[in-house]
Amino acid sequence: MNVLEVDDLKKHYPIHGGMLRREVGRVRAVDGVSFSIAAGETLALVGESGCGKTTVSRCILRALTPTSGAIRFDAGDGTVDLATMPKRAMRPLRRHIQMIFQDPYSSLNPRMMVGDIIAEPLKVNGVPAAERNARVLELLDLVQMPAVARTRFPHAFSGGQRQRIGIARALALNPRLVVADEPVSALDVSVQAQIINLLLDLQDRLKLSMLFVAHDLSVVRHVSDRVAVMYVGRIVEIAPTDELYRSPRHPYTETLLAAVPAPDPLRRGRQMKASGEVADPAKPPPGCAFHPRCPYVQDRCRTDRPELAEVAPGRWTSCHRAREIELAGVA
Ligand code: SF4
Repeated sequence: MNVLEVDDLKKHYPIHGGMLRREVGRVRAVDGVSFSIAAGETLALVGESGCGKTTVSRCILRALTPTSGAIRFDAGDGTVDLATMPKRAMRPLRRHIQMIFQDPYSSLNPRMMVGDIIAEPLKVNGVPAAERNARVLELLDLVQMPAVARTRFPHAFSGGQRQRIGIARALALNPRLVVADEPVSALDVSVQAQIINLLLDLQDRLKLSMLFVAHDLSVVRHVSDRVAVMYVGRIVEIAPTDELYRSPRHPYTETLLAAVPAPDPLRRGRQMKASGEVADPAKPPPGCAFHPRCPYVQDRCRTDRPELAEVAPGRWTSCHRAREIELAGVA
């Protein structure tokens, strides 16, 4: 059963120019993205800055209104389309979709005590004070923080501890879906591992369904069941995590894997390094948007846009040459 189904999602921004400020073009920030998240599954949405991954997550949270497409969400008592529902109707659904933010420094109100921060979603949803207090203690224990933390202010804690507090707040209402927006990218590498381990533990204990947004593949290997790779507003590959690392099917995935430390030096030597700039979503190249950077480019890549197609069970990629070129992964 799927908790979330995103179908042909688009978010375009008009560009206005000239004396009359007419529409002269469009930034296709998200341009036909489809994926699903099953109950208890973590899907990582990965791509370089500006690829549209954050826009996708903001559309799911309805911080942005999509241009078109569907976002079907299983709210427990039926399926709703988040893409088209009025913003006011979203309010009762917000308890089911919670967010873990990127920056643990700015996402916590410095004037509120930690206990009040974690209890805030409970209070907004009418949970009585006595129950709130018990739940805050339970949540602090869940994220491996001492009970005394509830009477302290955020500045008393390190970045990693603040992210634990943010995670506790996100889990307060037992959400059906957690959207984690680069939850470890603002943290030191050693602390990143601790937060990833915490998320693994929580996945195990709570059977979380999660969309994990990240800008590289190094942090999602152990935390995601499947990975969707985005480039210039579109998904270029979706695969089970192990298979994607072992044998990527899209050249762009290979460039992202080149940034991941590989244990086998022979394989590492074969990995393609990214070259060139990420394409501008206001002026994407014709054909395959990756063709100016792709070492496997052929003539048709410059004119024909490849569609996302299933090349093996559960493996989807948008590359004309997906079946003929062998790419290097990280074993
Ligand atoms: Fe490279 Fe062509 Fe595949 Fe695009 S379609 S990734 S340019 S080989």
